[in-house]
This record gives sequence, structure tokens and C-alpha cells, in this order.
Amino acid sequence: MKNYAPSRMELAPRDIVSRSIVTECLQGRGFVDEESGLCYVLLDLRHLGEEKINKRLPMIREIVIKTLGIDPVDEPIPVRPAMHYMMGGVHVDLYGQVMLDEDKTKVPNLWAAGEAANVSVHGANRLGSNSLSECLVWGRLTGAAAARYAMSAPDSMLDYGGDIATKVANEESRIFNKLLHKEVGAENPYAIREEMNRTMDTYVYVFRDKSGLEEAYSTIKRLRERFPNVRIEDKGRYYNTNLRDVLELDFLLEQAELIIVGALTRTESRGAHYRLDYPKRDDANWLKHTLYFYTTDGPRLSYVPVRITRWKPEERKY
Ligand SMILES: Cc1cc2nc3c(=O)[nH]c(=O)nc-3n(C[C@H](O)[C@H](O)[C@H](O)COP(=O)(O)OP(=O)(O)OC[C@H]3O[C@@H](n4cnc5c(N)ncnc54)[C@H](O)[C@@H]3O)c2cc1C
Repeated sequence: MKNYAPSRMELAPRDIVSRSIVTECLQGRGFVDEESGLCYVLLDLRHLGEEKINKRLPMIREIVIKTLGIDPVDEPIPVRPAMHYMMGGVHVDLYGQVMLDEDKTKVPNLWAAGEAANVSVHGANRLGSNSLSECLVWGRLTGAAAARYAMSAPDSMLDYGGDIATKVANEESRIFNKLLHKEVGAENPYAIREEMNRTMDTYVYVFRDKSGLEEAYSTIKRLRERFPNVRIEDKGRYYNTNLRDVLELDFLLEQAELIIVGALTRTESRGAHYRLDYPKRDDANWLKHTLYFYTTDGPRLSYVPVRITRWKPEERKY
């Protein structure tokens, strides 16, 4: 890490550490896991000593011993970057109420908090403990706002314009009819998922560029076209993990497409989004949030400004 972030070393922000690991791998200085063929580097904690590891990192030690059979007191830990947080999310206001568009039109009766929501406080990067503030601050603000609303709203405001139980039942049968009761499809959903994973891992990972993102886009579009023909072997109505996996795949394919379209359009590098062909942050053109709208003709992108108050954006230096 001395070559990448000398003042912070391995405690540099995650995007920088991730790029450093992948660079080491690309330049042939990584290790290769025989089983998966994946490249990794070694995280060495041995200099901390057993006492400090037990005091400060007891959970890390336990996880590594349990999952890898390695004791970090004696041996370095194999590591490589993986996604463990979704930047962005449902467009909400400061109190977590869901907004429909660029003009802050509120969606009645709907709030979102936590990793699902995008309050816009974190921007393009996943820094240490984003989730802690999401839990402590927005868990409280959004929970209180939604509860206040539910307790004070007249019944007519909570009325969705019909019998809600019927609407829920209709939506459930739409899902079941669409997926479970159709003729047997030719596509294996797990094969589609595998190809989606591989495509995202190859082209939409730590380093991105135009040609890779275009390749990923056309693959994901093809997979989305194949999706309606997926086969669900399990027709059961209880604890049907096959159905759950297929529903999840549907959402994941759409998420994959919007991530690629957003990344392809954003011709700069910012936070965890790193474009090899546009390695610099470009505040003049890109200091703005991307909004993604579902339309029957495909994704529509729009942008809203970043609200800047006391802390002005500045270049990160480590
Ligand atoms: C390996 C790992 C390490 C992490 N380490 C840290 C860390 O050190 N510090 C930190 O701040 N953050 C960390 N995070 C991130 C943090 O854990 C998450 O951002 C946070 O837990 C998200 O909380 P949430 O309540 O928003 O969502 P979740 O905890 O994901 O809760 C969503 C819930 O909704 C349920 N659900 C989903 N779909 C439905 C449905 N259709 N109907 C009903 N229920 C549904 C799910 O079962 C789940 O219980 C880590 C994440 C990972 C994966």
C-alpha cells in the first residue's frame, strides 16, 4: 500500500484499496486460488500481535478461523474486493419519503431507509460505517416520520383507491401466473444468473471502460430477452426457493442494466466508479446524482444537483 496511499496504507478508503489490490493482480503480483482461478493478495495482521488482534479485531479473527481455517495471528489472510454495499438506492427526501421524479414529487404512503434508500448524504463512495449513520440517523428520522404520518393521516389518505387486500392478491397471482403457471420454459435461470455474474465481475468491477461496459450492456440486454422464457422446476406454493431465485434474478438483471447504463454515461471517475478511459473526477460536468426511471421503452436517465452546504467537495489525497 506504500505505493498507493502511503499516509493511510491499508486503512485508505475502500475504493483505493480495491484498486490497489486489482492493480497488483493485473500486474502479476497476486496469488491465484487454485479452485476458483480468482486472484487475491494477502492481508498481514501478524505485526499487531495476538493481544491487540483479540482486543480490536476479535470478530475478524473468529471469521477467518471459522471460514478459512487460518489464524491471522500466525498467517496472513487472503483477500480480494467484493461488493458489500449498494451505493445509491430509492430516491428519497431527507426524511426518507420516496420521491417520484426530479421535481421532488412525493409518492404517497411510501418511505425507504437504510441501504435501500438514497438520502444522498454518502455520494458515490462506500466509506467506513455509512450504514451506521443510516441506521442511527435515518432509522430514527424515517421511522418517526412514517409513524407520525400513519398515526395522523386521515383514513382517506391511506386509501389506495380500492380494496388493498384485493390489489395485493391480484399482484401475487400476477407473479404466480406469470412465472409458475406458464408452460415449461427453455431457459435455465441459474445459467442466466451465472452469466450475469461473470459479465458484471469482468466488465463492471473495480476498473471500467467504454468498450467493456458496452460489452456488458449487450450481454445483459440479451439475458433480459431470454429471461421471460425461464423454467421453474418447483411448482410448490410453500418455501419455493426456486421461485424466489427467479424473482430475484428478474430484479438483478434490471439492476445490472441500470448500473451499466449509469456507468457508461458517467464519463468521469468518482468514488467507487472508476473509468480507465476517464480517470479524473469532473466536477464541472458530473457533480450530480443520476436518476433512473423505468419506462416500457427502456431506462430513462435524468440528473439532479448535489446539495452542498458546509463541506465543499475537494480532491482526496492520501
Ligand atoms: C460482509 C458485510 C460486511 C459489512 N460490514 C459493515 C460494517 O463494518 N459497518 C457498516 O456500517 N456496514 C457494514 N455492512 C453494510 C451493512 O451491513 C448494511 O448496509 C446494512 O446492514 C443494511 O441494513 P438495512 O436494514 O438497510 O438492510 P438489510 O439489513 O438488508 O435488511 C433488509 C431486510 O428486508 C428483508 N426483505 C427483503 N425483501 C423483502 C420482502 N420482499 N419482504 C419482506 N422483507 C424483505 C430482508 O430479509 C432483510 O431482513 C456490511 C455488509 C456486508 C455484506
